[in-house]
Amino acid sequence: MPIVPEAEIAALMTPDAAYEAVEAVFAAMARKSAYNFPVIREAIGHADALYGFKSGFDRESLALGLKSGGYWPGNADRGLTNHQSTIFLFDADTGRCSAIVGGNLLTALRTAAASAVSIRHLAREDAKVLGMIGAGHQSIFQMQAAVKQRKFSKVIGWNYHPEMLSRLAECADSLGLPFEEASLESLGREADVIISITSSFSPSLLDAHVTPGTHIACMGTDTKGKQEVEATLLKRAAVFTDEIAQSISIGEAQHAIASGLITQTDITEIGAVINGAHPGRVSDDEITLFDGTGVGLQDLAVAAKVVELAQAKGVAINVDF
Ligand code: NAD
Repeated sequence: MPIVPEAEIAALMTPDAAYEAVEAVFAAMARKSAYNFPVIREAIGHADALYGFKSGFDRESLALGLKSGGYWPGNADRGLTNHQSTIFLFDADTGRCSAIVGGNLLTALRTAAASAVSIRHLAREDAKVLGMIGAGHQSIFQMQAAVKQRKFSKVIGWNYHPEMLSRLAECADSLGLPFEEASLESLGREADVIISITSSFSPSLLDAHVTPGTHIACMGTDTKGKQEVEATLLKRAAVFTDEIAQSISIGEAQHAIASGLITQTDITEIGAVINGAHPGRVSDDEITLFDGTGVGLQDLAVAAKVVELAQAKGVAINVDF
């Protein structure tokens, strides 16, 4: 059985390969041939940690397994990333464990790939200004994947902790793009595409900030209680998601659903747009919003790709198990 350690992932997996894997599995989900099992996420009462499992099965690729892990807020002080995860794959014919794969970098890559998929399929073709809300660990992966989707000429950013904005400035610089710090008001006014990736429990981006034609990828809300944008924005926007069950329970839509602003039937799975079953954006004035909650099938898809690449390059550790 192959084990692919975390340290090997960076040399194996590219953002482009993650994009392909995630787009394909979103499409399979919309065809109902791949499905996620209910998420388990618990506050364990130790180290302020949230721990849980995301899992699923893709009948087309036969990817079966789970990602185990969570969020340890004190890790940064220990020189570790706050998110810690490991992906376990199983043989769909026998149930035997078929691979163990480090899941930290893969989580960042598959999450960035999800918002990039939403940008490719939902943002206006002429989008020029990318607005970033959030400057934590995930933010640079998000920016790197997003800039491949449209010809952006500038990145603007806001963060609750402004001292962290240098991370966005350095990333934009490495991508050859100018960066400007912005207020939420000017970010909403100027940005054609907005990515929000924070751990906030109250809205930063308000309905009144956002102008017609914007595409917003809400990527930070993956737990009950978290919220990044004002709920009324979801009533004004065309809302898309990775998976409806997660969107209404742990995603950004949980608040608009709970307050009766929208119903589940107002939300479209992005896979339907990828498959051509839904038109996606229907006008240049429409506001599109992608509620990226992060599904287990994304993890399995990128892990399966990494195992294939690791075996081909001979860098997997093979053990009898
Ligand atoms: P991080 O801890 O490195 O950064 C947290 C970010 O949130 C920082 O920009 C911080 O300034 C900001 N923030 C903190 N408190 C805030 C507040 N009250 N208001 C506004 N902003 C605030 O975390 P990260 O690894 O970058 O992850 C960011 C979020 O993305 C987390 O909520 C995480 O759970 C989520 N996430 C989602 C997915 C997914 O698939 N959707 C995947 C990975 C991470």
